[in-house]
Amino acid sequence: MSDTIFGKIIRGEIPSKFLYEDEHCIAINDINPQAPVHVLVIPKRGIPRLVDAEQDDQALLGHLLLAAGKVAAQLGVSDAFRLIVNNGAGAGQTVFHLHLHIIAGRPFAEGHLAG
Ligand code: AMP
Repeated sequence: MSDTIFGKIIRGEIPSKFLYEDEHCIAINDINPQAPVHVLVIPKRGIPRLVDAEQDDQALLGHLLLAAGKVAAQLGVSDAFRLIVNNGAGAGQTVFHLHLHIIAGRPFAEGHLAG
């Protein structure tokens, strides 16, 4: 388990409301939301970055995508959400425990990924 803030949240050392939890992951609201819906799906296993995932993590990575879809449906945004993974400090990663951002509830620009 990682010693990042997410590791502490998963271990219950920092109180946090889980919007979703299963055997392999949790989902929580982002503390600094960038959209009306901004939720983090976080695996319980603390892989630092996506590129650090290994072949043994294949099932877990698929599980995280399925969980993200479930959480989006639970939040009522299954028709329009974006999933983001920041990999590495240069891409804006600040917590080195892999996580998916679910972003929804605001307009998205068409045709590119920046908006
Ligand atoms: P990233 O920049 O991709 O590493 O994303 C880390 C995210 O974690 C940021 O959007 C932060 O706002 C969020 N964050 C940091 N600490 C907490 C916390 N204690 N609870 C919820 N979200 C957090």
